[in-house]
Amino acid sequence: MRTDSKCATSSSWPLDAQNLWNRGKVLLADEIIGMLSREIAPLEPVPDPDPRAPASEYAFADGIGRVGFIASVSRPFCLNCNRIRLTADGKLRYCLFAIQEDDVKSLMRSGASDEDIAALIRRNLAGKWEGHEINSAKFVPPPRPMYSIGG
Ligand code: SF4
Repeated sequence: MRTDSKCATSSSWPLDAQNLWNRGKVLLADEIIGMLSREIAPLEPVPDPDPRAPASEYAFADGIGRVGFIASVSRPFCLNCNRIRLTADGKLRYCLFAIQEDDVKSLMRSGASDEDIAALIRRNLAGKWEGHEINSAKFVPPPRPMYSIGG
């Protein structure tokens, strides 16, 4: 069993197409853990062997199963992020929340050399930031909704 705090409410993920996201409506991971612990069985954290894995796993004390939380808003894990993303339309993104992206497909279709493509990938990676800043005034919602990024 796996759940995801980013899916806990219909407007709890800031990559929604309608731009309805509002941090005040987010159901935080601790709240979900508290609810599940009260309604099903106490949840206990499972030691995480890989700090880069996005999900924090918990096990129900009665042994019924586990739940994984990807609590990217209430417990950001960006500082451990080693991911980049290539979208279905050939854009390279250093973050789900990237404001800018690089057009790898067009570069490849134009006959660019491997060195040129490698340089673009390096440039994109160099732009990788410390995190999404959702919890600060600096946060800028990205223009593309999640479905168009392939997340
Ligand atoms: S840096 Fe971006 S892609 Fe990585 S965990 Fe944070 S929000 Fe997600």
